Order: sequence, then structure tokens, then C-alpha cells
Amino acid sequence: MSATVNTPVGQAGPIVKVDQIYKSFGSNQVLKGVSFEVQKGEMIAIIGASGSGKSTALRCIDRLEKVDSGTIDVCGMRVDDPHIDLHKLRQEVGIVFQSYNLFPHLTVQENIMLALRHVKQQPKAQALTVSMAALEQVGLGNKADAYPEQLSGGQQQRVAIARSLAMAPKVMLFDEVTSALDPQLTGEVLRVMEDLAAGGMTMLLVTHEMAFAKRVADRIIYMHQGTVWEVGPGEMLDNPKTPELRAFLNNGL
Ligand code: ADP
Ligand code: MG
Repeated sequence: MSATVNTPVGQAGPIVKVDQIYKSFGSNQVLKGVSFEVQKGEMIAIIGASGSGKSTALRCIDRLEKVDSGTIDVCGMRVDDPHIDLHKLRQEVGIVFQSYNLFPHLTVQENIMLALRHVKQQPKAQALTVSMAALEQVGLGNKADAYPEQLSGGQQQRVAIARSLAMAPKVMLFDEVTSALDPQLTGEVLRVMEDLAAGGMTMLLVTHEMAFAKRVADRIIYMHQGTVWEVGPGEMLDNPKTPELRAFLNNGL
């Protein structure tokens, strides 16, 4: 346990603050006044039926989508500001998707080094060290020279997580990162995320893995039809307050 550090005034407060965001695609209103906060070191799981707006909410935080109204603060940056420095934002926020999008003609380590070299402008020696440390963090230090096709889906997803981690983000977003994997491969990816959470990483993840969410998340956000319907600790899954959450938990997606 490290010594207590006094938080300087102005640096306290949440890492992510989403306030009353609205987003439509054409006539389809997808986010209808969504608000939530993520504190430093927190792991928050977002659950909800397909189409409820989970991915859109996540993508707005990394400015892959623009909100129509409302505000988003991430690490002191206003994401809804049209003049935001996207380069800086994307260094602070890592995002991992269901698809790993690794370059097939590059080795695992080269895949991770790419952004370190070109985005962070790291010299080769530094990028080699940083990428190897990230690979070791996800338990794949021995696969540095392998090509993606030589790895299982679970291993490829761990590489994608390592690629994001190597950029040293302040917050990581995960959008259904295990959904494309065979059930026997999801465990290894969930374990990596659990280790990250235990190590103090600030994380916001969309997942269908209810048992995992309940066990690992500090708080769960249940989204329903573009709104935050229920928020609470893992136990809220044992005792839903609303018929909507009860139905979702009984019927699944
Ligand atoms: P979830 O992740 O909860 O399944 P999404 O945020 O992906 O939900 O989608 C919510 C709604 O927004 C869906 O009706 C979906 O079709 C629509 N949507 C999402 N992205 C786009 C887009 N880029 N263009 C048009 N409609 C979209
Ligand atoms: Mg989604």
C-alpha cells in the first residue's frame, strides 16, 4: 500500500463525467440524456439489451461519435468541444473492441510498436521495451515474434489489449471484447481485465458477462432504451429494482 497522497485542488473528481448526453442517428434517438461518472481506479460495467445505446455511449467518450448535446469531460478535457485535441484525447483514452484489428503481416510486437513509434514518437529501443512490458502484462511475453494468425482468438484479443495498454492511457474502454470468442477463450481475456482492475486501472466496459460484472465491477450501469435505468453495486443484479432489469436478466439479450 503506497502512502496517501493529497490530491491537489482542481485535480480531484471523476476521470470521466458524462452529463445529459443526447445522440440521434437520423430520426433514431439513441441516447436520451445519459449521465454517469467514473472515478479514478473504478471499474464500471455497462449492461443492457442490444440496441440500448451502450456502444454509442462508449464511442462518444472517445469522440468516435459526436454528441448532439450534453457534456463529456475526460481527464480534464471537454470531449464535446469541437476544437478538442483528438490526438491528446486518444492518448488518455484506450479503447478495445470486439474485433482485434491486428495487422496480419506484422508480428505481435510490431503491431504494438506501431502506435508507440508513430503516435508517441518513441525511439525504437524504447518502443521495444514498452511493447514487451505490455505483452508481459497480458501474459504473452513469449509470443512477441508470432504473427496474429498463429494465435488463438483469446490471445489476439489480449494483444489488442496490450496494444492499448502500451500507450499508457488514463482510462480504458472495452466494448464486448469477449463476445466474438468461443466460451473456452473468454476466461483468459476476462482474467486480463480483472488483473488490470486490481492494478488500479480506471475502466469502463460493456459486457454480457454478468457473473464477471457482478464479481469485478465497482458499479454496474444498466442501460435501457437510451437511458441509464439502474446504477448500483454488483448486488443489484440479485435484486433488480425495475421490471426492465429483471426481464433483461431473465431473458438475456
Ligand atoms: P448497443 O451497443 O447497446 O447494442 P448501439 O449503441 O450499438 O447499442 O446502438 C444503438 C442504436 O443506434 C441502434 O438502433 C443502432 O442501430 C443505432 N446506431 C448505432 N450506430 C449507428 C450509426 N453509426 N449509424 C446509424 N445508426 C446507428
Ligand atoms: Mg454494442
